[in-house]
Amino acid sequence: MAARVDVERVRALMARATGDEKHDESSTSTLDALWVLYDRVLRVDPSSPRAETRDRFILSKGHGPSAYYAVLAAKGFFPEELLDGFLEWGNPLGSHPDRNQVPGVEASTGSLGHGLALGVGSALALRAKGLREQRVVVLCGDAELNEGSNWEAMMLAAHLVLTNLTLLVIDNHSSSLAMDPWEARFTSFGWDAGVVDGHHHAALEEALSRRPVDRPNAVVADIPEGEW
Ligand SMILES: [Mg+2]
Repeated sequence: MAARVDVERVRALMARATGDEKHDESSTSTLDALWVLYDRVLRVDPSSPRAETRDRFILSKGHGPSAYYAVLAAKGFFPEELLDGFLEWGNPLGSHPDRNQVPGVEASTGSLGHGLALGVGSALALRAKGLREQRVVVLCGDAELNEGSNWEAMMLAAHLVLTNLTLLVIDNHSSSLAMDPWEARFTSFGWDAGVVDGHHHAALEEALSRRPVDRPNAVVADIPEGEW
């Protein structure tokens, strides 16, 4: 398994991936949650990124991937030097993550509103294979949940009782439509849900490690507006 790394090391690595400042906020707001996932929650192995027994992670809001790349590099999925060539011709680290180019990337994403549906399919596949310990975690943005496809996927996930599916919402208050109250919204769709401080590592770890026995669950990581 991957060695533990300090979150400040990840921040330093992320600073090497420059050239996509337009999406800085989108990416930076995911950094703490991604680090907690990869350092403390997900069971993944950089020496065998496609091992059948891995947990699956899908970065649905793929338009801000630099924190994700920094975490994957810190964990040893690919050489850190690749970060210096982020977005450059010939470098696999593009503006949207590509599962065929970047070791550790589970799904090619960037077109918003698709990741949760992919996650539902992945969770069903794990069930069909009898892999009951493994789980799927999908990261969405708050504004991304304006896309109706997510709510279709949520209805299906609850109907299928996908207890191996977790949706992590990074709420950096970028949505034009009001999304509060999160708990009421999710529970009305048959999900378990909780809101935590999106920078608080222990709270994120506790919430992301929880596995309700009878429903899928959502963890909303709150990032105060303007804070990242
Ligand atoms: Mg957002």
